[in-house]
Amino acid sequence: MKLIRFGAPGRERPGLILPDGRRIETSSVAADYDEAFFGSGGLERLARWLAEDGAAAPVVPDDARLGPPIGRPSKIVCVGLNYRDHARESGMAIPDEPVLFFKATTAITGPNDDVIIPKNASKVDWEVELAVVIGRRAAYVERAKALEHVAGYVLHNDYSERAFQLERGGQWVKGKSCDTFAPLGPFIATRDEIRDVHELPLWLKVNGVTQQCSSTRELIFDVPTLVSYISQFMTLLPGDIISTGTPSGVGLGQSPPRYLVDGDEVELGIEGLGTARQRLRASR
Ligand code: ZN
Repeated sequence: MKLIRFGAPGRERPGLILPDGRRIETSSVAADYDEAFFGSGGLERLARWLAEDGAAAPVVPDDARLGPPIGRPSKIVCVGLNYRDHARESGMAIPDEPVLFFKATTAITGPNDDVIIPKNASKVDWEVELAVVIGRRAAYVERAKALEHVAGYVLHNDYSERAFQLERGGQWVKGKSCDTFAPLGPFIATRDEIRDVHELPLWLKVNGVTQQCSSTRELIFDVPTLVSYISQFMTLLPGDIISTGTPSGVGLGQSPPRYLVDGDEVELGIEGLGTARQRLRASR
């Protein structure tokens, strides 16, 4: 299934994209796609409802705004330097263990919403990423069982302000958490929709020019390894997001570095997870 949320910001309603491309509302079976939904067998309920009653469901208006396909999760755990070529362009060593950092959940926004350049920002950068949505509580999970805790996958642009991230002391979280810095979607693809999550082409363009073009085949630490590894340090709750890192081609890695300004347009996609498009806007 492909899960969407649609409507005005903060008032999104849940829906589905059907295999034929039609979009239907699922409010009659799901209050929202959030921790309570995933943690209570919501996906199984939704699949049953779709088979029995889906044909009678209301259609999502064509012009409806797409929101993030998940109601605010307890956390976004990000993985740094998880593609060899990106570690190299960042001038960092290939990590021996996954590098983890947090991104504030208030940064989450819709896949095609404007991205706001924060006050005092000068180095806003892009990062196309495969993000994992947790489906079942995970604590001390073995790698062999890790995928049983995954509900599905979603496209993420891990926007970063490099001066906040790298020049202001402390941890990366300052440069990762600004409002609108986590566009998610267009949809969550449930795990069964993706044949091999480690064979997905991913790409990103700025103003029509390709900047990132790689494959999840290049991940240093794969999805089961990440779920298992992170669960050794914290409990992952249903709905939580793990963003698995970005390949080479970010603005920081160019010489000279190239950062985003008001009016720039960023498009990105992952095979099987759709595409998204964001316009950069100055803060006012
Ligand atoms: Zn990232």
